[in-house]
Amino acid sequence: MSVEEAGAHLTIDLGALAENWRRLAAHAADAATAAVVKADAYGLGIERAVPALAEAGCETFFVAQISEGLRALAVAPRATVYVLNGLLPGTASRFAISGLRPVLGSQEEMTEWAAFCTARGVRLPAALHVDTGMNRLGLSISEGLSLAEDPRLVAFMPSLVMSHLVRAEEPDHPKNAEQIAAFEAVRSALPGIPASLANSSGIFLPQRPHLSLVRPGYALYGGNPMPGLPNPMREVVRLQARILQTRWIERGDAAGYNGRWTARGRRRLATLSVGYADGYPRNGSVSDEKIAASAPFGEAVVAGRRCPFAGTVSMDLIIIDVTDVPPDQVRRGTMATLIGDGLGIDEVGFRAGTIGYEILTRLGQRYARNYIDTSR
Ligand SMILES: *Cc1c(COP(=O)(O)O)cnc(C)c1O
Repeated sequence: MSVEEAGAHLTIDLGALAENWRRLAAHAADAATAAVVKADAYGLGIERAVPALAEAGCETFFVAQISEGLRALAVAPRATVYVLNGLLPGTASRFAISGLRPVLGSQEEMTEWAAFCTARGVRLPAALHVDTGMNRLGLSISEGLSLAEDPRLVAFMPSLVMSHLVRAEEPDHPKNAEQIAAFEAVRSALPGIPASLANSSGIFLPQRPHLSLVRPGYALYGGNPMPGLPNPMREVVRLQARILQTRWIERGDAAGYNGRWTARGRRRLATLSVGYADGYPRNGSVSDEKIAASAPFGEAVVAGRRCPFAGTVSMDLIIIDVTDVPPDQVRRGTMATLIGDGLGIDEVGFRAGTIGYEILTRLGQRYARNYIDTSR
């Protein structure tokens, strides 16, 4: 899609992505640093993100699904790629042919992978996932503790033992210490197998549970791994939308579907060419009720100034209040920033009642995507 035709532009800075990986790797210099690139590299595009990360020095990648893993390997053939969602029934040969590694999270998966390896006469690698508190995926702690004697670990090659933190973005929460201790016990029962526990926020925990390998995702893409503290990561994503038209309205006039927002004075509105069909959450809408309740709602940046949304986010359009921007700086064709210019993905998520992760992974396909590299 050409830049002139597109209603909104998404700029992805691969140099900032690589720089973020290097910053995390430097912070966890006692371990190897992988990259989590599931969900199309958190919406940024796996085909562009993986080579940039590999060039920065990343050798190990995590995806959720086989199809994502195949896309990662296609652009980084020498990489080690783990599939977090594990071994779906009957997919062992897909893993073997491609070289993808399943993250085995149940007795059934271990049995199926071991049987496949025995039948083929090859000790193929796989990770073992132990659930230390999420109750989502993985062997139980007691199952993990009894793995040492398990004959299946002779049939295949356990190349990693891992677990996942439940609330690593809350550094003072006792759950972190509890999970770290449980995982430490499991891992000492499996000497010689590399171990991995930390996601983005886990890297910054005071206990520094880096072990052999850290697995950041969100922080690579500019998310703050330490909510409430200054963000140590660079912004990677910038979203800008065109202003299609502007108008003045009078006090008491309503804007948007169902007239849920009314002007408290004479206001100048601008209409942006972006909407919930582009993945911008409809929950970023503003109503008189939300204002009365001091609930958060969406904002954009025009000519360096914050402009609140006015009314409901529509499928293809968002109305903003540009009264405070000098009139000559807002006209048809002017760009408004929805992500960037100090409006980071964490704040955008908060303003829409969700998290920055969801903002990223919902980034739409209608944008003119521009990959840049500010490090060059
Ligand atoms: C998504 C995921 C990660 C990365 O988490 P971030 O918070 O994005 O850094 C790491 N490990 C597992 C198991 C995951 O599912």
